[in-house]
Amino acid sequence: MAVSDHVDFNGFMEGVNRRNPHQPEFVQAVQEVAEDIFPFLDSNEEYHSQQILRRIAEPDRVVSFRVCWEDDNGNIRVQRGWRVQNNNAIGPYKGGIRFHPSVTESVLKFLAFEQTFKNALTGLPMGGGKGGSNFNPKGKSVREIMRFCQSFMTELYRHIGADVDVPAGDIGVGGREIGYMFGQYKRITNQFTGVLTGKGLEYGGSLIRPEATGYGAVYFLANMLATKDQDLVGKTAVISGSGNVATHAAEKIVQLGGKVLTLSDSGGFIHDPDGLSQEKIDWVKTHKTHRRGRIEEYVEAFPGATFTAGKTPWGVPCDVALPCATQNELLGEDAKTLIANGVQAVSEGANMPTDLDGVHAFRGAKILFAPGKAANAGGVAVSGLEMSQNSERRSWKEEELQQMLKDIMAGIHKSCETYGRQGDGYIDYVKGANIGGFKKVADAMLAFGVV
Ligand code: NDP
Repeated sequence: MAVSDHVDFNGFMEGVNRRNPHQPEFVQAVQEVAEDIFPFLDSNEEYHSQQILRRIAEPDRVVSFRVCWEDDNGNIRVQRGWRVQNNNAIGPYKGGIRFHPSVTESVLKFLAFEQTFKNALTGLPMGGGKGGSNFNPKGKSVREIMRFCQSFMTELYRHIGADVDVPAGDIGVGGREIGYMFGQYKRITNQFTGVLTGKGLEYGGSLIRPEATGYGAVYFLANMLATKDQDLVGKTAVISGSGNVATHAAEKIVQLGGKVLTLSDSGGFIHDPDGLSQEKIDWVKTHKTHRRGRIEEYVEAFPGATFTAGKTPWGVPCDVALPCATQNELLGEDAKTLIANGVQAVSEGANMPTDLDGVHAFRGAKILFAPGKAANAGGVAVSGLEMSQNSERRSWKEEELQQMLKDIMAGIHKSCETYGRQGDGYIDYVKGANIGGFKKVADAMLAFGVV
């Protein structure tokens, strides 16, 4: 990747590495953004002299805490919890909570950094944050999950608030967990405020929040295809993951006339050559999300499909690909395979699912490639709308929210086009998203002086 020599990119990255030892995911996320921002600094000296990128790449604060809970056998269990508040230049910190054994400070710092740019791109007043724990919800009873959520919130409540920091769900945290955490917040503070999003409809949640990330990633994909006078009708799609984002992305692809061939989980992937119908997607939602089953059981319910253990689905030829599981699940080699098989567009439903080699491969081959910070911003955008509804004590209708989501995704696409269009007409969405998000946050930071 060519970077400007006007300012010292290598020196900057050496510093990021030195200050964040053993935090590879965070360093990777900063590098991906810095590769685009450094050339941009050439013609924007003030951002450089005011050290804006250096400041965004240093979280405002990282809170780390102990979470004790008692399992069903009376054993005392100890987990670690975090909240990373990356930047609140344009609004209260906002970003999900992840419960997964792979959660580390590095993972949450990368997610909070990415979230800062993503939230800026939505056009809504939200800063960037992220939190979570290395707690593994798999195999836990509902009571154990409730006790863990309550214990987690017993510390977290000190650091959040409707105008301070508004967490939401992420991997391992859905409506049920948000309910337990909201209940505990309310109990401790005696306040009913919009302190969390992704809430149930009965107590301040927003319609279409569960669907928003997956639907938004597909709207973004449709916007990209439209620049080539194409749409999703008849296109084959390979999707990874089988959680909230993956199933809703699959649903929207089917609604728009595409054919979804795969879904996956950490055990492997299923390939259904007939395509997933709405009925099959509903089965996955019930089975995988609500009953916490495994995707491999799909082949028993739908015998035309095959299950491949321990592999990702990127070898299945397709027109469009949507990585919707987790970070670094699509590597350089996978990107090359997808390109060789003729993929036309890639939309990241997950956060940083493509590693740096993969990103370079897609951009190098001039594939339409939407980074997560643009493509999956629909979820946080509807969360932002949930915050507005809570503040105003109102709720918008589903059609209104669907239209707002579509408009926001079109706006993000426009922003990427503005800052990412190359001389040969190719839209570099990574560059567009990085510069578009950076500029908004940077301008606010300039207004505040050195703080
Ligand atoms: P869910 O917990 O609902 O689903 C996660 C899915 O990813 C599951 O199918 C899970 O499989 C799979 N998965 C997790 N870890 C791995 C792994 N190491 N290898 C392969 N598969 C894995 O999470 P979401 O759908 O909410 O989130 C998915 C991604 O989207 C994450 O990157 C998240 O940060 C991002 N995102 C989510 C938003 C939201 O609104 N929910 C908003 C924006 C981004 P298994 O059951 O085996 O663990």
